[in-house]
Amino acid sequence: MAFAHCIAATDGSARAGVLTTAHGDVPTPAFMPVGTAGTVKAMTPDAVRATGTAIVLGNTYHLMLRPGAERIASLGGLHRFMDWPGPILTDSGGFQVMSLAKLRKLDTDGVTFQSHLDGSTHRLTPARSVEIQHLLDATITMVLDECTPFPATPDEARASMQLSMRWAERSRAAFRPRDGYALFGIVQGSVYPDLREASARALRRIGFDGYAIGGLAIGEGQATTFAVLEATVPHLPADAPRYLMGVGTPDDLIGAVQRGVDMFDCVIPTRAGRTARAYTSGGVFNLRNARFADDAAPLDPACACPACTRHSRAYLHHLFKAEEMLGPMLLTWHNVQYYQDLMRGLRTAITERRLDAFAAAVRAGWAHEESP
Ligand SMILES: [Zn+2]
Repeated sequence: MAFAHCIAATDGSARAGVLTTAHGDVPTPAFMPVGTAGTVKAMTPDAVRATGTAIVLGNTYHLMLRPGAERIASLGGLHRFMDWPGPILTDSGGFQVMSLAKLRKLDTDGVTFQSHLDGSTHRLTPARSVEIQHLLDATITMVLDECTPFPATPDEARASMQLSMRWAERSRAAFRPRDGYALFGIVQGSVYPDLREASARALRRIGFDGYAIGGLAIGEGQATTFAVLEATVPHLPADAPRYLMGVGTPDDLIGAVQRGVDMFDCVIPTRAGRTARAYTSGGVFNLRNARFADDAAPLDPACACPACTRHSRAYLHHLFKAEEMLGPMLLTWHNVQYYQDLMRGLRTAITERRLDAFAAAVRAGWAHEESP
C-alpha cells in the first residue's frame, strides 16, 4: 500500500483528508503527541489511543543515545518496543543536538556532539540520521536539517538554509523507500519570504512525500509564524501533507490549519499536564490555584476524558498539592484529549465548510487564562 494523502474537503486554505500509511490511516489535520523516549510521558499507549491519537512522534536524538537504535531494531522496532502499532513520525535528531547536546560541532557533512547523558561522543550525518530512523522503523522519516537560530541575519539564514538543502538531498539519497513509508523534507529560511520560497522550491526539485515547515515557534511570535506560513504554503505541492514542526498552543493550531497546515507536533499538552496547566474549552487553568480546593465541578464539562468525567477540580488540585503522580497522568490525558477533540472539530468544520465560524466560537470560549 502506497503512502498517500487524500484531501477530501477544503475550506479556504484549510484541508481535511486522510494520510494512508503502512501502519494505518491518519485523519488530517492531525496532532502528534510527542513520545520523546519511546513513551508519551505519563500516558499508557491505551490512554494515548483512547484520546483519538492516530500518530505519535519519536525523538531520534533521545532514542539513539538510550537505549540505542540498533537495540530497538533487534527488539523488533519502535512500534513493538513501545506497543504503538500505529504510525510513528521520528524527527531527525538535529534540533535536539542543537538544544541539548554538549560540545556540538557543526560542519558541512554533519554534526559531532557529546551526549547530555554521559558525555560520550556521537556523530549525526544526513545518512546516519536516516539509517537510525530506518532502524527504529519510523513510518515517516524526517531529513536532517539545521534549525536556523532566531534571530538570524539574511546572510546567516541563507547559508543555514542552503546547508539544510544539501543535507536534504543526502537524506533523500540515503532513504530506502518502502510501501507505506515516507520521507519528509523541511523548509527553512528563518523569517525571510524569499528564502522560504527558495527552500520550498529546492525541496520540490529533490522530491519528498511530505513537506515540513521548520525553524518556527522559536521566539519569533505568532504573527511572524503565521506570516511565514503564508509565504511558504503557496510554494508547496497542493496534494502533499504539510507539517508545522513544534507548534503549538491551541490558538496556534487553529491559525495554522486556517493557513493550510495538515500536521503538528508539540510538547505543550504533555508538558503542561505535568505542571498542573490544563487546556480546556473555557481557557487555561492552573490546577495548583487554591481557588480549586473546594471546587466540585468537572475540569471541563465538554470533555469525555477520565479526569473530567470521573474526578472534580478539587481532586485534581489535591493530587498536585500532594505531589501524587496521578495528577500529571490525569492532566496529561486531559490535555491530549483536548488537543485531539480540537483537531476533530477542525476536521469536521472544514468538511462542513464552516471553519471560520468554528474557530471564532472556540476562541470565544477561551475567556479564562491563568498564569502558570
Ligand atoms: Zn478532560
